[in-house]
Amino acid sequence: MDLQQRLTAEIAARRDDLVALTQDLIRIPTLNPPGENYREICDYLDRRLLRAGFHTELIRARGAVGDSDKHPRWNIVARREGQGAGECVHFNSHIDVVEVGHGWTVDPFGGEVKEGRVYGRGACDMKGGLAASIVAAEAFIAVCPDYSGAIEISGTADEESGGFGGVAYLAGRGYFTPERVQHVIIPEPLNKDRICLGHRGVWWAEIETKGEIAHGSMPFLGDCAVRHMGAVLREMEDSLFPALAQKRTDMPVVPEGARQSTLNINSIHGGEAEQDADYTGLPSPCVPDRCRMVIDRRFLIEEDIADVQAEIREVLETVRRGRPGFDYDIRELHRVLPTMTEKDAPVVGAVARAVRQVFGREADYVVSPGTYDQKHIDRIGRLKNCIAYGPGILDLAHKPDEYVGIDDMIQSAQVMALALLELLLPEGRA
Ligand SMILES: [Zn+2]
Repeated sequence: MDLQQRLTAEIAARRDDLVALTQDLIRIPTLNPPGENYREICDYLDRRLLRAGFHTELIRARGAVGDSDKHPRWNIVARREGQGAGECVHFNSHIDVVEVGHGWTVDPFGGEVKEGRVYGRGACDMKGGLAASIVAAEAFIAVCPDYSGAIEISGTADEESGGFGGVAYLAGRGYFTPERVQHVIIPEPLNKDRICLGHRGVWWAEIETKGEIAHGSMPFLGDCAVRHMGAVLREMEDSLFPALAQKRTDMPVVPEGARQSTLNINSIHGGEAEQDADYTGLPSPCVPDRCRMVIDRRFLIEEDIADVQAEIREVLETVRRGRPGFDYDIRELHRVLPTMTEKDAPVVGAVARAVRQVFGREADYVVSPGTYDQKHIDRIGRLKNCIAYGPGILDLAHKPDEYVGIDDMIQSAQVMALALLELLLPEGRA
């Protein structure tokens, strides 16, 4: 048997261990928000990776958004040096999961196994990917103990809420500089035969229209901010949405519907605040003097963020020109620039060749409609050689009865291990 065959066989033989590891991770409920049990899961990973010969660091993102003594943002970074000088391959997984929601038929934190799948919140997004990367690294170390360079595995907080107490914090402290790490694989659930090169950009903003409060029986004495917002919506329907649909991208975004600019209206609030459900009184009659809308604009690598902002201002200015008394404010809430790793980047090539070897067909190249922690590695860490690759079906993320397929995890772990073989033991390739 050559090294590649030994490696894939070694991973297949670790099937039970991979399943048990995934179950253990699911059984630590790391709900975010508020960010529970981060320390517990880091301690668990610490014990596991120490046994595999890693040097580990537990790092609390003190002072980061979301960090508090009640809900500390713990992260783990583990590194195992090889026998000689070489490059470092880093697997980064987020340890947090989103809320459970309704509609489950299994225990969301039970890690139940049935019909070749492990079930639970976070099974595919992304504790299955984390487990696959750990087993891939452990098998690689067992089969190729004389590798050169280094392997790193990190478990990081808060990806689901922006990653500021996780990857962004670590990147700001030099953990993802090109001097320390040369290749990054993020095992997000993008499907076992697809390589995700990056993501679209995000611009969130709040638009506020202004009016004047008055008695609801005499609305002519006031100025209704909700009607002004209605005019904004009409202008968006007439000019903005059709224009966005025309902006197509060369980025291979999946699903197909996201291969263009999009805008979601996240919320609109105008007038009196809603009362609690147990309030039995009636509203009072007032003309709303404020209306606020939160927009979520997703933009393309071909678009400049300044143009994205100017386009929204143009909508508002168009309304102003046609509408006496119209006044507004606009405030940026959040921004992420689009990112896309080049197809000829070394980590892309290594994973693509490994996919071909395991599946006997070419990998698909995709771009994610939404962002993930690659944004921080790219912008703060300055590291371009980064992809997302991992087991699990993206559509199952955040849904009830989330699961990850066991065969998918095995095959993804084989791809990851073969990529390690190419990047850390080049002479070991057949
Ligand atoms: Zn995720």
